[in-house]
Amino acid sequence: MKPKKAIFLDRDGVINQDFGYVYKPSDFSFVTGFPTLASKLKSLDFLLIVVTNQSGVARGFFTEEDVHLFHQKIQTELSSAAGVQLDRFYVCPHHPDGVIAKYAVDCSCRKPKTGLIEQAMKVDSIDLSRSFLIGDKASDIDLARAVGIRAIQVSSGKYELHPNAFQLVEELDELSSFNWATNS
Ligand SMILES: [Mg+2]
Ligand SMILES: [Zn+2]
Repeated sequence: MKPKKAIFLDRDGVINQDFGYVYKPSDFSFVTGFPTLASKLKSLDFLLIVVTNQSGVARGFFTEEDVHLFHQKIQTELSSAAGVQLDRFYVCPHHPDGVIAKYAVDCSCRKPKTGLIEQAMKVDSIDLSRSFLIGDKASDIDLARAVGIRAIQVSSGKYELHPNAFQLVEELDELSSFNWATNS
């Protein structure tokens, strides 16, 4: 099988509005433009792979099952809004300062560490040279740099623009004319 190209997606602030430790399905709302973008990317044959830090699990704010249920909510909403689905979800539930012992570890998967993308590479054959990451924080952009893929930074205004980002946008809608082909 030919390796596939992928878009690695940060979750909070890219897919859903980031209200801080969001986990209740009733608190879900899309970042403006995400369903349209997801539909476009699927039509271009990208795998859509979520890579998300959810330290709220380690901190005892919610459980891994809550995270799973929130992801089901995303799939349901995305299906009705755009007729597509995300392909995979990789979650880091850890944090060294966590209060839940099993998650209170200095793991190798909390972004910007590369563990989540390494997990993804074991499941799918992915051509990183044709792939991108979309994120809103420095930890996302640093992860992309660490694995050698290009990062698109969505600035919600809350985070500083990162010097290593390949492309900066204020709104996902600005990516409607982005050239997703790799020419390097
Ligand atoms: Mg984020
Ligand atoms: Zn982790």
